[in-house]
Amino acid sequence: MIQLKNINKIYDGLAGKVHALKDITLTIEAGESVVVIGKSGSGKSTLLNVLSGIDRPESGELTINGQNLIALNESQLAKWRGKNVGVVFQFYQLLPTLSALDNIVFAMGLVNCIPPKERKQRAIGLLQEVELGEKAHKFPNELSGGEIQRVAIARALANDPPIVIADEPTGNLDSKTGEQIYALFQRLKAQGKNLIIVTHEDISKRDFDQVITIQDGTLNNFKA
Ligand code: ADP
Ligand code: MG
Repeated sequence: MIQLKNINKIYDGLAGKVHALKDITLTIEAGESVVVIGKSGSGKSTLLNVLSGIDRPESGELTINGQNLIALNESQLAKWRGKNVGVVFQFYQLLPTLSALDNIVFAMGLVNCIPPKERKQRAIGLLQEVELGEKAHKFPNELSGGEIQRVAIARALANDPPIVIADEPTGNLDSKTGEQIYALFQRLKAQGKNLIIVTHEDISKRDFDQVITIQDGTLNNFKA
């Protein structure tokens, strides 16, 4: 279970302070899938960064599966994140010099919870799950946008995290390819993953347990 209580995030930027998350309170049950919808600049990426421990809030409580994240120091937080959260970034961020397979094996190496002998086989299995088994040895520049995004999703699953977070995962894809990505997310949900997706598109009619809108750092949530 993911619990945020009165979370505030304030950026102190060159243009002054930005109150990016305002008193956010939110509960996500284990296995629940959540979509967060909001315009550009509303605080979506900030929310994901706080949830995944990339960014620290100025105030509030954040507990995930019994772990109080606020209490962890940087290295504990990095370790926790590696095991617990798989992140799919908006702009893929695959390493261009590594094949699809090696991008996933590399992610396993960073966290070191999958035994080295099992990594390659597990990575091939993950690529098969996203229907890219036959492209395991291709490099990012040999793959389409949708294929790269599926590799990025397979990589997010590398260390079998209970939580998968995706920041505008279909933002740069055509709608048909976007549909395939959402179908893949539904399969992950069926496997019991906690799925949290943010988007600026209106996809509220899709099959999510919780639909949240965010506007100027303030949430409006309702259960589907
Ligand atoms: P979204 O992902 O919904 O487009 P963000 O979470 O990226 O929105 O940003 C929310 C607000 O915080 C915006 O006003 C943005 O300009 C500001 N912001 C985000 N990151 C930083 C930062 N590192 N420094 C200063 N301001 C930031
Ligand atoms: Mg964003």
